Amino acid sequence: MTAVRKVAIAGSGVAGLAAAIQLAKAGVEVDVFESKPELSALGSGISLQGNALRVFDALGAWDDIRAAGYAFEGLNLRAPGPGAPIVAELPNVQAGGPNYPAHMGMPRADLARILLEHAERAGAKVHFGRKVTGVDTRANDAVELFVDDESAGVYDLLIGADGLNSTVRDLIGIDTKPQPTGMGIWRTFVSRPAEVESTELYYGGPVYIAGYTPTGEDSMYAFLVEKAEDRFGTPDDEATRIMLEESRAYDGPWNSIRADLEAGAHANYTWFTQHIVEAPWNRGRAVIIGDAAHSCPPTIAQGAAQGLEDAYVLTELLTSRDELDQQLWDDFHARRLPRAKAVVEASVQLGQWQIDGDRDADAGGLIFGIGRQMAEPA
Ligand SMILES: Cc1cc2nc3c(=O)[nH]c(=O)nc-3n(C[C@H](O)[C@H](O)[C@H](O)COP(=O)(O)OP(=O)(O)OC[C@H]3O[C@@H](n4cnc5c(N)ncnc54)[C@H](O)[C@@H]3O)c2cc1C
Repeated sequence: MTAVRKVAIAGSGVAGLAAAIQLAKAGVEVDVFESKPELSALGSGISLQGNALRVFDALGAWDDIRAAGYAFEGLNLRAPGPGAPIVAELPNVQAGGPNYPAHMGMPRADLARILLEHAERAGAKVHFGRKVTGVDTRANDAVELFVDDESAGVYDLLIGADGLNSTVRDLIGIDTKPQPTGMGIWRTFVSRPAEVESTELYYGGPVYIAGYTPTGEDSMYAFLVEKAEDRFGTPDDEATRIMLEESRAYDGPWNSIRADLEAGAHANYTWFTQHIVEAPWNRGRAVIIGDAAHSCPPTIAQGAAQGLEDAYVLTELLTSRDELDQQLWDDFHARRLPRAKAVVEASVQLGQWQIDGDRDADAGGLIFGIGRQMAEPA
């Protein structure tokens, strides 16, 4: 028996699709409603820590993820200026325990495709171009869902995995919202020079952080983190030019990145945000997970990993119990809130140290502490 037999999920990001896979594999009827007309994965690449990889394994998707990504250990710090000397080689933080690589970079589009394939193969129905617009949570044991302003039926549970600007969060009356942290980021997807075999970060120079992460034999993403400005809607050629100009203080592999930018590599811009919804994340039979419930600057690259852990823990409880009762919600919150909160607080702290220019900050100690905490099962 499972605690639910029919579940609706809003959103086909990593959190929504991970929940869909585990529920459908347990024989639960799953409908995923995604407002976009097709699978899209904004950004470029993503860095997945060991605890994210451990969830993929539990979902049965690890072999496909491993084949599509670029696994690596360690993290290098380089200095701005001529020669880009390596100033520190930080040892591993195996956030998924010893059975998984410390890090894996991969193109976001590949991650989205693999999770969608696994969800559909498990039997989940994914409906694109369908926006969740309403929910009635008044019944004790069911929820009525409205999609594109029409009733889409009655479900045992609605999982709102609909991202930063979650509609479900608004609909169920949770008013905590993401707040800007004061940092903005330019990202581009480029070719990988052979010498780049792990994430490398440059602190200082004209931006807070310059860096890149390998995502495959031939690819990597590069980023520049700067003071947040209203740069949304910057035309494509201007965006590429800004990234090109701001990167000139960085040598080494940045020469190859600049060559790709000069050849027209696309650059995109966004802001970092932070928020954490206090317990409970549910109102009756509707619950939020992933970025709907928490967000953090990607200073330790744990955002998606936390959404995956939300999905994993929630669906593990739903598929191993007979009843969706208060005890299940209490257990869910006890397992998820402290971890998600620790990640948000550490990520924000790391960003703030950059903004403040605090040279005495123990960034390594903070990253190691979180890594060790995440290595414990979620
Ligand atoms: C610059 C940047 C870099 C990052 N780098 C990393 C990293 O390296 N590693 C890492 O782990 N994390 C990283 N993150 C965080 C990570 O990207 C997010 O935590 C993660 O993608 C969130 O997944 P999600 O499934 O919760 O939400 P999303 O991926 O946002 O998915 C939500 C989905 O819901 C859909 N939706 C919205 N409203 C509705 C509605 N009403 N009805 C139906 N569908 C709806 C949306 O279209 C979307 O497809 C980064 C974040 C940023 C901003």
